[in-house]
Amino acid sequence: MTFAIKKAAVIGAGVMGSGIAAHLANAGIPVLLLDIVPFNAKEGEDTSSKAFRNKFSLAAVKGFKKQKPAPLFTPRALSLIEVGNLEDDIERLKEVDWVVEAVVERADIKQKVFGAVEANIHDSCIVTSNTSGLSIEEMLLGRSENFKQHFMVTHFFNPVRYMKLLELISGVKTAPEVVATMHKFGEETLGKGIVYGKETTNFIANRIGVFGIMKTVEVMLEMGLSIEAVDTVFGPAMGRPKSAIFRTADLVGLDTLVHVANNCYDTLPDDEEREVFAIPAFVKKMVDANILGNKTKGGFYKKGKDAAGKRVIEVLDFDTLTYRPKEKVRFASIGKARKIEDLAKKVAMVMNSDDEAGRFAEKVTLAVLAYASNRIPEIADDIVNIDRGMRWGFAWEAGPFETWDAYGVEAGLKRMKELGLKPAAWVEEMVASGRTSFYAVDGTKDTYWDLTANKAQNEPLNPRTLKVDYLRRGERKMKKNFGATLWDMGD
Ligand code: NAD
Repeated sequence: MTFAIKKAAVIGAGVMGSGIAAHLANAGIPVLLLDIVPFNAKEGEDTSSKAFRNKFSLAAVKGFKKQKPAPLFTPRALSLIEVGNLEDDIERLKEVDWVVEAVVERADIKQKVFGAVEANIHDSCIVTSNTSGLSIEEMLLGRSENFKQHFMVTHFFNPVRYMKLLELISGVKTAPEVVATMHKFGEETLGKGIVYGKETTNFIANRIGVFGIMKTVEVMLEMGLSIEAVDTVFGPAMGRPKSAIFRTADLVGLDTLVHVANNCYDTLPDDEEREVFAIPAFVKKMVDANILGNKTKGGFYKKGKDAAGKRVIEVLDFDTLTYRPKEKVRFASIGKARKIEDLAKKVAMVMNSDDEAGRFAEKVTLAVLAYASNRIPEIADDIVNIDRGMRWGFAWEAGPFETWDAYGVEAGLKRMKELGLKPAAWVEEMVASGRTSFYAVDGTKDTYWDLTANKAQNEPLNPRTLKVDYLRRGERKMKKNFGATLWDMGD
Protein backbone atom coordinates (compact mmCIF):
# COMPACT_ATOMS: atom_id res chain seq x y z
CA MET A 1 0.00 0.00 0.00
CA THR A 2 1.15 3.53 -0.63
CA PHE A 3 -0.18 6.92 0.41
CA ALA A 4 -1.16 9.61 -2.10
CA ILE A 5 0.91 12.80 -2.06
CA LYS A 6 -1.19 15.55 -3.61
CA LYS A 7 0.30 18.51 -1.80
CA ALA A 8 3.58 18.97 0.08
CA ALA A 9 5.30 21.38 2.43
CA VAL A 10 9.01 22.16 2.60
CA ILE A 11 10.44 23.59 5.79
CA GLY A 12 13.62 25.60 5.37
CA ALA A 13 14.06 27.73 2.25
CA GLY A 14 17.85 27.47 2.07
CA VAL A 15 19.89 25.80 -0.68
CA MET A 16 18.20 22.41 -0.36
CA GLY A 17 14.70 23.39 0.75
CA SER A 18 14.27 25.85 -2.09
CA GLY A 19 15.64 23.29 -4.56
CA ILE A 20 13.22 20.62 -3.31
CA ALA A 21 10.27 23.06 -3.46
CA ALA A 22 11.20 24.04 -7.03
CA HIS A 23 11.44 20.43 -8.09
CA LEU A 24 8.09 19.54 -6.53
CA ALA A 25 6.59 22.37 -8.55
CA ASN A 26 8.37 21.00 -11.64
CA ALA A 27 6.49 17.75 -10.99
CA GLY A 28 3.17 19.57 -10.75
CA ILE A 29 2.80 19.20 -6.97
CA PRO A 30 1.52 22.28 -5.08
CA VAL A 31 3.96 23.15 -2.33
CA LEU A 32 4.07 25.33 0.74
CA LEU A 33 7.56 26.71 1.44
CA LEU A 34 8.06 27.83 5.03
CA ASP A 35 11.03 29.34 6.83
CA ILE A 36 11.54 31.21 10.09
CA VAL A 37 10.50 34.82 10.65
CA PRO A 38 13.81 36.78 10.60
CA PHE A 39 15.23 37.38 14.08
CA ASN A 40 16.27 40.97 13.36
CA ALA A 41 14.62 43.78 11.47
CA LYS A 42 16.38 46.59 9.64
CA GLU A 43 15.53 50.12 10.63
CA GLY A 44 12.16 51.16 9.25
CA GLU A 45 11.08 47.59 8.36
CA ASP A 46 7.47 46.78 9.19
CA THR A 47 7.82 43.58 11.24
CA SER A 48 4.13 42.76 10.85
CA SER A 49 4.26 42.82 7.04
CA LYS A 50 4.34 39.67 4.92
CA ALA A 51 7.40 41.09 3.15
CA PHE A 52 9.27 40.96 6.45
CA ARG A 53 7.77 37.82 8.00
CA ASN A 54 8.17 35.72 4.82
CA LYS A 55 11.50 37.30 3.93
CA PHE A 56 13.51 34.05 3.71
CA SER A 57 11.05 32.03 1.64
CA LEU A 58 10.30 35.04 -0.59
CA ALA A 59 14.01 35.56 -1.20
CA ALA A 60 14.42 31.89 -2.12
CA VAL A 61 11.67 32.05 -4.72
CA LYS A 62 12.94 35.34 -6.10
CA GLY A 63 16.37 33.77 -6.42
CA PHE A 64 15.09 31.02 -8.77
CA LYS A 65 15.21 33.40 -11.75
CA LYS A 66 18.92 34.15 -11.35
CA GLN A 67 20.07 30.72 -10.24
CA LYS A 68 22.28 28.70 -12.55
CA PRO A 69 21.56 25.98 -13.47
CA ALA A 70 17.85 26.91 -13.40
CA PRO A 71 15.93 25.03 -10.69
CA LEU A 72 12.56 25.36 -12.45
CA PHE A 73 11.53 23.70 -15.73
CA THR A 74 9.50 26.79 -16.60
CA PRO A 75 8.64 30.04 -14.77
CA ARG A 76 5.00 28.86 -14.83
CA ALA A 77 5.85 26.28 -12.16
CA LEU A 78 6.25 29.21 -9.75
CA SER A 79 2.48 29.44 -9.44
CA LEU A 80 2.52 26.12 -7.55
CA ILE A 81 4.76 27.46 -4.77
CA GLU A 82 3.19 29.35 -1.88
CA VAL A 83 5.53 30.98 0.60
CA GLY A 84 5.02 31.50 4.30
CA ASN A 85 6.64 31.29 7.71
CA LEU A 86 6.66 28.87 10.61
CA GLU A 87 4.67 31.18 12.90
CA ASP A 88 1.78 32.45 10.78
CA ASP A 89 1.34 29.47 8.45
CA ILE A 90 2.20 26.41 10.55
CA GLU A 91 -1.49 25.43 10.81
CA ARG A 92 -1.62 25.09 7.05
CA LEU A 93 0.45 21.92 7.37
CA LYS A 94 -2.86 20.10 7.84
CA GLU A 95 -3.41 20.63 4.09
CA VAL A 96 -0.41 18.54 3.04
CA ASP A 97 0.41 14.83 2.70
CA TRP A 98 4.19 15.17 2.93
CA VAL A 99 6.36 17.54 4.96
CA VAL A 100 10.05 17.59 4.07
CA GLU A 101 12.35 19.31 6.52
CA ALA A 102 15.51 21.03 5.21
CA VAL A 103 16.54 23.38 8.01
CA VAL A 104 20.06 23.85 9.38
CA GLU A 105 21.90 20.67 10.34
CA ARG A 106 21.32 20.86 14.10
CA ALA A 107 19.47 18.18 16.03
CA ASP A 108 18.05 20.66 18.59
CA ILE A 109 16.59 22.86 15.84
CA LYS A 110 15.18 19.89 13.95
CA GLN A 111 13.61 18.57 17.18
CA LYS A 112 11.81 21.87 17.67
CA VAL A 113 10.64 21.96 14.07
CA PHE A 114 9.26 18.38 14.29
CA GLY A 115 7.43 19.28 17.51
CA ALA A 116 5.66 22.13 15.73
CA VAL A 117 5.03 19.95 12.66
CA GLU A 118 3.46 17.14 14.69
CA ALA A 119 1.00 19.52 16.33
CA ASN A 120 -0.36 20.57 12.93
CA ILE A 121 -0.37 17.66 10.47
CA HIS A 122 -3.04 15.04 9.75
CA ASP A 123 -2.50 11.50 11.07
CA SER A 124 -1.27 9.87 7.88
CA CYS A 125 0.95 12.75 6.76
CA ILE A 126 4.50 11.59 5.95
CA VAL A 127 7.35 13.65 7.42
CA THR A 128 10.91 13.32 6.19
CA SER A 129 14.22 15.00 6.92
CA ASN A 130 16.87 15.96 4.40
CA THR A 131 19.55 15.62 7.08
CA SER A 132 22.97 14.58 5.85
CA GLY A 133 23.46 12.28 8.81
CA LEU A 134 21.92 13.30 12.15
CA SER A 135 20.52 10.45 14.22
CA ILE A 136 16.84 9.78 13.57
CA GLU A 137 16.29 8.85 17.21
CA GLU A 138 17.77 12.15 18.36
CA MET A 139 15.82 14.27 15.87
CA LEU A 140 12.59 12.57 16.98
CA LEU A 141 13.01 12.94 20.74
CA GLY A 142 9.59 13.65 22.19
CA ARG A 143 7.62 12.56 19.09
CA SER A 144 4.72 10.07 19.17
CA GLU A 145 4.76 6.48 17.87
CA ASN A 146 2.51 7.51 14.97
CA PHE A 147 4.94 10.28 14.00
CA LYS A 148 7.90 7.85 14.12
CA GLN A 149 6.04 5.35 11.92
CA HIS A 150 5.41 8.07 9.33
CA PHE A 151 8.96 9.40 9.39
CA MET A 152 12.12 8.68 7.40
CA VAL A 153 15.13 10.43 5.84
CA THR A 154 14.92 11.54 2.20
CA HIS A 155 18.43 12.74 1.30
CA PHE A 156 18.43 14.81 -1.89
CA PHE A 157 21.57 16.03 -3.65
CA ASN A 158 22.38 19.54 -4.77
CA PRO A 159 21.24 20.83 -7.27
CA VAL A 160 18.01 18.94 -6.61
CA ARG A 161 16.57 19.24 -10.10
CA TYR A 162 19.71 17.84 -11.73
CA MET A 163 21.10 15.25 -9.35
CA LYS A 164 19.29 12.00 -9.89
CA LEU A 165 20.09 10.49 -6.50
CA LEU A 166 17.58 10.26 -3.68
CA GLU A 167 18.89 8.26 -0.72
CA LEU A 168 16.17 6.76 1.48
CA ILE A 169 16.97 5.86 5.07
CA SER A 170 14.42 4.32 7.40
CA GLY A 171 14.28 4.61 11.15
CA VAL A 172 13.59 1.55 13.31
CA LYS A 173 9.92 2.49 13.53
CA THR A 174 9.31 3.59 9.91
CA ALA A 175 6.28 1.80 8.43
CA PRO A 176 6.87 -0.14 5.17
CA GLU A 177 4.03 1.79 3.47
CA VAL A 178 5.89 5.03 4.13
CA VAL A 179 9.05 3.68 2.49
CA ALA A 180 7.01 2.35 -0.44
CA THR A 181 5.30 5.74 -0.85
CA MET A 182 8.55 7.70 -0.88
CA HIS A 183 10.12 5.19 -3.28
CA LYS A 184 7.22 5.43 -5.74
CA PHE A 185 6.83 9.20 -5.39
CA GLY A 186 10.58 9.83 -5.64
CA GLU A 187 10.94 7.62 -8.69
CA GLU A 188 7.74 8.24 -10.61
CA THR A 189 6.76 11.79 -9.69
CA LEU A 190 10.15 13.39 -9.04
CA GLY A 191 12.12 11.29 -11.54
CA LYS A 192 14.78 10.36 -9.00
CA GLY A 193 16.94 7.25 -8.76
CA ILE A 194 16.32 5.58 -5.42
CA VAL A 195 19.12 4.16 -3.33
CA TYR A 196 18.64 2.56 0.08
CA GLY A 197 21.12 3.63 2.72
CA LYS A 198 21.40 2.84 6.40
CA GLU A 199 21.62 5.15 9.36
CA THR A 200 25.40 5.53 9.15
CA THR A 201 27.61 8.62 8.97
CA ASN A 202 27.02 10.52 5.71
CA PHE A 203 25.05 7.59 4.26
CA ILE A 204 26.34 6.10 0.97
CA ALA A 205 27.41 8.60 -1.68
CA ASN A 206 29.00 11.20 0.60
CA ARG A 207 30.83 8.54 2.61
CA ILE A 208 32.47 6.96 -0.43
CA GLY A 209 32.69 10.17 -2.48
CA VAL A 210 34.45 12.14 0.23
CA PHE A 211 36.71 9.18 1.02
CA GLY A 212 37.66 9.27 -2.68
CA ILE A 213 38.43 13.00 -2.57
CA MET A 214 40.49 12.72 0.62
CA LYS A 215 42.42 9.72 -0.72
CA THR A 216 43.11 11.63 -3.95
CA VAL A 217 44.56 14.52 -1.95
CA GLU A 218 46.69 12.13 0.13
CA VAL A 219 48.19 10.43 -2.94
CA MET A 220 48.57 13.79 -4.73
CA LEU A 221 50.77 15.05 -1.86
CA GLU A 222 52.69 11.77 -1.72
CA MET A 223 53.43 11.84 -5.46
CA GLY A 224 54.02 15.61 -5.62
CA LEU A 225 51.34 16.26 -8.25
CA SER A 226 49.70 19.61 -8.96
CA ILE A 227 45.99 20.46 -8.72
CA GLU A 228 45.58 20.60 -12.48
CA ALA A 229 47.46 17.31 -12.96
CA VAL A 230 44.99 15.60 -10.60
CA ASP A 231 42.04 17.08 -12.47
CA THR A 232 43.49 15.98 -15.80
CA VAL A 233 43.54 12.39 -14.57
CA PHE A 234 40.26 12.25 -12.60
CA GLY A 235 38.08 13.89 -15.25
CA PRO A 236 36.43 12.23 -18.27
CA ALA A 237 39.49 9.99 -18.84
CA MET A 238 38.51 8.09 -15.69
CA GLY A 239 34.76 8.37 -16.28
CA ARG A 240 34.37 11.33 -13.93
CA PRO A 241 32.71 14.68 -14.61
CA LYS A 242 34.67 17.47 -16.32
CA SER A 243 34.81 19.31 -13.00
CA ALA A 244 36.99 16.37 -11.81
CA ILE A 245 38.12 16.60 -8.18
CA PHE A 246 39.03 20.18 -7.41
CA ARG A 247 36.55 22.07 -9.56
CA THR A 248 33.87 19.91 -7.94
CA ALA A 249 35.29 20.82 -4.53
CA ASP A 250 35.09 24.52 -5.47
CA LEU A 251 31.45 24.06 -6.52
CA VAL A 252 30.43 22.18 -3.38
CA GLY A 253 32.44 24.44 -1.07
CA LEU A 254 35.51 23.43 0.90
CA ASP A 255 33.72 24.12 4.21
CA THR A 256 31.05 21.53 3.32
CA LEU A 257 33.65 18.93 2.31
CA VAL A 258 35.65 19.52 5.47
CA HIS A 259 32.44 19.19 7.50
CA VAL A 260 31.65 15.79 5.93
CA ALA A 261 35.25 14.57 6.36
CA ASN A 262 35.38 15.71 9.99
CA ASN A 263 32.05 14.03 10.60
CA CYS A 264 33.51 10.74 9.34
CA TYR A 265 36.69 11.18 11.35
CA ASP A 266 34.83 12.00 14.57
CA THR A 267 32.07 9.42 14.41
CA LEU A 268 33.81 6.43 12.80
CA PRO A 269 36.52 5.37 15.27
CA ASP A 270 36.51 1.80 13.89
CA ASP A 271 36.74 2.72 10.22
CA GLU A 272 39.87 0.93 8.94
CA GLU A 273 40.72 3.99 6.83
CA ARG A 274 39.77 6.64 9.37
CA GLU A 275 43.08 8.55 8.99
CA VAL A 276 42.25 9.29 5.35
CA PHE A 277 39.51 11.61 6.66
CA ALA A 278 42.01 13.69 8.70
CA ILE A 279 42.13 17.17 7.14
CA PRO A 280 45.58 17.94 5.61
CA ALA A 281 47.36 21.04 6.96
CA PHE A 282 47.06 23.00 3.70
CA VAL A 283 43.28 22.45 3.57
CA LYS A 284 42.96 23.70 7.16
CA LYS A 285 44.93 26.80 6.14
CA MET A 286 42.62 27.35 3.16
CA VAL A 287 39.54 27.20 5.40
CA ASP A 288 41.15 29.57 7.93
CA ALA A 289 41.93 32.00 5.10
CA ASN A 290 38.30 31.72 3.85
CA ILE A 291 39.42 30.17 0.55
CA LEU A 292 36.32 28.00 0.15
CA GLY A 293 35.58 27.82 -3.56
CA ASN A 294 33.04 29.56 -5.79
CA LYS A 295 31.15 31.05 -2.87
CA THR A 296 34.24 33.04 -1.82
CA LYS A 297 35.30 33.67 -5.44
CA GLY A 298 38.37 31.53 -5.06
CA GLY A 299 39.22 27.99 -4.05
CA PHE A 300 41.56 25.57 -5.75
CA TYR A 301 40.91 27.68 -8.83
CA LYS A 302 40.22 31.38 -9.24
CA LYS A 303 39.41 33.71 -12.11
CA GLY A 304 42.23 36.21 -12.63
CA LYS A 305 43.97 38.39 -15.21
CA ASP A 306 47.41 38.01 -16.72
CA ALA A 307 49.97 40.81 -17.16
CA ALA A 308 48.25 41.93 -20.41
CA GLY A 309 44.87 42.14 -18.64
CA LYS A 310 43.52 39.01 -20.36
CA ARG A 311 41.16 36.82 -18.28
CA VAL A 312 42.85 33.60 -17.14
CA ILE A 313 42.13 30.77 -14.75
CA GLU A 314 44.57 30.64 -11.88
CA VAL A 315 45.32 27.68 -9.70
CA LEU A 316 46.31 27.43 -6.08
CA ASP A 317 49.86 26.59 -5.13
CA PHE A 318 49.06 24.75 -1.94
CA ASP A 319 52.54 25.18 -0.44
CA THR A 320 52.30 28.96 -0.44
CA LEU A 321 48.50 29.48 -0.72
CA THR A 322 49.14 31.86 -3.61
CA TYR A 323 47.74 31.62 -7.14
CA ARG A 324 49.64 31.06 -10.37
CA PRO A 325 48.37 30.69 -13.97
CA LYS A 326 46.89 27.27 -14.69
CA GLU A 327 49.20 25.09 -16.73
CA LYS A 328 48.37 22.60 -19.46
CA VAL A 329 49.23 19.15 -18.22
CA ARG A 330 49.87 16.32 -20.64
CA PHE A 331 50.06 12.61 -19.92
CA ALA A 332 50.46 9.99 -22.65
CA SER A 333 47.79 7.74 -21.12
CA ILE A 334 45.23 10.54 -20.80
CA GLY A 335 45.86 11.58 -24.42
CA LYS A 336 45.21 7.98 -25.50
CA ALA A 337 42.08 7.79 -23.33
CA ARG A 338 40.47 10.64 -25.28
CA LYS A 339 40.32 8.37 -28.31
CA ILE A 340 38.65 5.44 -26.51
CA GLU A 341 34.88 5.53 -26.36
CA ASP A 342 34.20 2.39 -24.32
CA LEU A 343 34.30 3.43 -20.68
CA ALA A 344 35.53 0.12 -19.26
CA LYS A 345 38.36 -0.13 -21.81
CA LYS A 346 39.34 3.50 -21.24
CA VAL A 347 39.47 3.24 -17.44
CA ALA A 348 41.36 -0.07 -17.55
CA MET A 349 43.86 1.38 -20.03
CA VAL A 350 44.57 4.44 -17.84
CA MET A 351 44.89 2.37 -14.66
CA ASN A 352 47.28 -0.05 -16.35
CA SER A 353 49.49 2.65 -17.89
CA ASP A 354 53.07 3.07 -16.74
CA ASP A 355 53.14 6.85 -16.76
CA GLU A 356 52.60 9.01 -13.68
CA ALA A 357 48.89 9.44 -14.49
CA GLY A 358 48.39 5.68 -14.66
CA ARG A 359 50.15 4.99 -11.38
CA PHE A 360 48.22 7.77 -9.69
CA ALA A 361 44.84 6.65 -11.11
CA GLU A 362 45.48 3.06 -10.10
CA LYS A 363 46.63 3.83 -6.58
CA VAL A 364 43.69 6.09 -5.75
CA THR A 365 41.07 3.98 -7.51
CA LEU A 366 42.07 0.64 -6.00
CA ALA A 367 41.99 2.23 -2.52
CA VAL A 368 38.43 3.45 -3.19
CA LEU A 369 37.35 0.03 -4.49
CA ALA A 370 38.78 -1.77 -1.45
CA TYR A 371 37.11 0.77 0.83
CA ALA A 372 33.75 0.33 -0.91
CA SER A 373 33.97 -3.47 -0.62
CA ASN A 374 34.42 -3.12 3.14
CA ARG A 375 31.30 -0.92 3.44
CA ILE A 376 28.85 -3.75 2.72
CA PRO A 377 26.72 -4.49 4.72
CA GLU A 378 27.70 -1.50 6.91
CA ILE A 379 26.27 1.28 4.72
CA ALA A 380 24.29 -0.64 2.08
CA ASP A 381 23.14 -4.20 1.52
CA ASP A 382 24.58 -4.65 -1.92
CA ILE A 383 26.89 -3.37 -4.65
CA VAL A 384 24.00 -2.01 -6.74
CA ASN A 385 23.04 0.59 -4.15
CA ILE A 386 26.66 1.74 -3.86
CA ASP A 387 27.30 1.93 -7.61
CA ARG A 388 24.06 3.78 -8.27
CA GLY A 389 24.75 6.15 -5.39
CA MET A 390 28.08 7.16 -6.93
CA ARG A 391 26.71 7.47 -10.45
CA TRP A 392 23.60 9.41 -9.48
CA GLY A 393 25.00 11.46 -6.59
CA PHE A 394 28.58 12.18 -7.73
CA ALA A 395 28.12 11.86 -11.50
CA TRP A 396 30.69 9.07 -11.81
CA GLU A 397 30.09 7.22 -15.08
CA ALA A 398 30.85 3.93 -13.33
CA GLY A 399 30.49 3.09 -9.66
CA PRO A 400 33.25 1.34 -7.66
CA PHE A 401 32.21 -2.22 -8.52
CA GLU A 402 31.60 -1.41 -12.18
CA THR A 403 35.09 0.14 -12.24
CA TRP A 404 36.53 -2.95 -10.57
CA ASP A 405 34.92 -5.14 -13.23
CA ALA A 406 36.56 -2.94 -15.88
CA TYR A 407 39.99 -3.41 -14.27
CA GLY A 408 39.34 -7.10 -13.62
CA VAL A 409 38.25 -8.46 -10.24
CA GLU A 410 41.13 -10.91 -9.81
CA ALA A 411 43.71 -8.48 -11.16
CA GLY A 412 42.36 -5.90 -8.70
CA LEU A 413 42.63 -8.28 -5.74
CA LYS A 414 46.21 -9.14 -6.65
CA ARG A 415 47.31 -5.54 -7.13
CA MET A 416 45.53 -4.38 -3.97
CA LYS A 417 47.59 -6.84 -1.95
CA GLU A 418 50.80 -5.61 -3.58
CA LEU A 419 49.79 -2.08 -2.57
CA GLY A 420 49.03 -3.14 1.01
CA LEU A 421 45.26 -2.64 0.63
CA LYS A 422 42.75 -4.93 2.32
CA PRO A 423 39.67 -5.67 0.22
CA ALA A 424 36.71 -7.39 1.90
CA ALA A 425 36.83 -11.17 2.21
CA TRP A 426 33.54 -11.59 0.34
CA VAL A 427 35.21 -10.54 -2.92
CA GLU A 428 37.65 -13.46 -2.71
CA GLU A 429 34.80 -15.75 -1.73
CA MET A 430 32.88 -14.62 -4.81
CA VAL A 431 35.87 -15.36 -7.05
CA ALA A 432 36.40 -18.74 -5.32
CA SER A 433 32.78 -19.63 -6.10
CA GLY A 434 33.57 -19.29 -9.80
CA ARG A 435 32.00 -15.85 -10.36
CA THR A 436 34.67 -13.64 -11.90
CA SER A 437 32.81 -10.31 -12.14
CA PHE A 438 30.42 -8.30 -9.94
CA TYR A 439 28.05 -7.79 -12.86
CA ALA A 440 27.32 -10.17 -15.72
CA VAL A 441 24.75 -10.93 -18.38
CA ASP A 442 22.51 -13.95 -17.93
CA GLY A 443 20.20 -14.58 -20.87
CA THR A 444 18.67 -11.20 -21.64
CA LYS A 445 19.13 -9.83 -18.09
CA ASP A 446 21.91 -8.06 -16.18
CA THR A 447 22.84 -9.77 -12.95
CA TYR A 448 24.85 -8.65 -9.93
CA TRP A 449 26.60 -10.59 -7.19
CA ASP A 450 24.45 -10.52 -4.06
CA LEU A 451 26.92 -11.19 -1.29
CA THR A 452 24.27 -11.71 1.40
CA ALA A 453 22.56 -14.45 -0.61
CA ASN A 454 25.96 -15.59 -1.91
CA LYS A 455 24.63 -15.85 -5.46
CA ALA A 456 23.88 -13.80 -8.57
CA GLN A 457 20.53 -11.99 -8.79
CA ASN A 458 18.80 -10.04 -11.54
CA GLU A 459 19.57 -6.33 -11.26
CA PRO A 460 16.53 -4.61 -9.73
CA LEU A 461 15.07 -2.12 -12.19
CA ASN A 462 12.55 0.68 -11.99
CA PRO A 463 9.49 -1.13 -13.45
CA ARG A 464 9.00 1.77 -15.87
CA THR A 465 12.51 1.37 -17.29
CA LEU A 466 13.13 -0.53 -20.46
CA LYS A 467 16.72 -1.42 -21.27
CA VAL A 468 17.50 -1.41 -24.95
CA ASP A 469 20.26 -3.92 -24.16
CA TYR A 470 17.60 -6.37 -22.93
CA LEU A 471 15.82 -6.04 -26.27
CA ARG A 472 19.06 -6.44 -28.21
CA ARG A 473 19.86 -9.62 -26.33
CA GLY A 474 16.40 -11.02 -27.03
CA GLU A 475 14.91 -12.53 -30.11
CA ARG A 476 12.17 -10.05 -30.86
CA LYS A 477 13.87 -8.37 -33.78
CA MET A 478 11.20 -7.30 -36.28
CA LYS A 479 13.13 -5.68 -39.11
CA LYS A 480 16.63 -4.50 -39.80
CA ASN A 481 18.56 -2.61 -42.45
CA PHE A 482 21.93 -0.86 -42.18
CA GLY A 483 20.34 2.27 -40.80
CA ALA A 484 18.19 0.90 -38.03
CA THR A 485 16.74 -2.08 -36.22
CA LEU A 486 13.12 -2.39 -35.16
CA TRP A 487 12.56 -4.28 -31.91
CA ASP A 488 9.29 -5.48 -30.41
CA MET A 489 9.18 -4.08 -26.87
CA GLY A 490 6.10 -6.10 -26.04
CA ASP A 491 4.15 -2.87 -25.71
P1 NAD B 1 20.93 26.36 4.35
O1 NAD B 1 21.79 26.97 5.36
O2 NAD B 1 21.03 26.79 2.95
O3 NAD B 1 19.39 26.50 4.79
C1 NAD B 1 18.97 26.25 6.09
C2 NAD B 1 17.62 26.90 6.34
O4 NAD B 1 17.28 26.69 7.72
C3 NAD B 1 17.63 28.42 6.12
O5 NAD B 1 16.62 28.75 5.21
C4 NAD B 1 17.36 28.98 7.50
O6 NAD B 1 16.56 30.17 7.49
C5 NAD B 1 16.62 27.84 8.19
N1 NAD B 1 16.73 27.95 9.65
C6 NAD B 1 17.71 28.51 10.37
N2 NAD B 1 17.43 28.45 11.69
C7 NAD B 1 16.23 27.85 11.79
C8 NAD B 1 15.41 27.52 12.88
N3 NAD B 1 15.77 27.79 14.13
N4 NAD B 1 14.23 26.90 12.64
C9 NAD B 1 13.86 26.61 11.38
N5 NAD B 1 14.60 26.92 10.30
C10 NAD B 1 15.78 27.52 10.50
O7 NAD B 1 21.18 24.79 4.48
P2 NAD B 1 21.05 23.65 3.36
O8 NAD B 1 22.36 23.46 2.71
O9 NAD B 1 19.84 23.88 2.54
O10 NAD B 1 20.83 22.36 4.28
C11 NAD B 1 19.57 22.02 4.81
C12 NAD B 1 19.60 20.56 5.23
O11 NAD B 1 19.89 19.75 4.09
C13 NAD B 1 20.65 20.23 6.27
O12 NAD B 1 20.15 19.23 7.11
C14 NAD B 1 21.81 19.70 5.42
O13 NAD B 1 22.65 18.83 6.14
C15 NAD B 1 21.05 18.97 4.35
N6 NAD B 1 21.75 18.76 3.06
C16 NAD B 1 22.48 19.74 2.48
C17 NAD B 1 23.05 19.53 1.23
C18 NAD B 1 23.84 20.59 0.51
O14 NAD B 1 24.50 20.27 -0.48
N7 NAD B 1 23.78 21.85 0.92
C19 NAD B 1 22.85 18.30 0.57
C20 NAD B 1 22.08 17.32 1.17
C21 NAD B 1 21.54 17.56 2.41
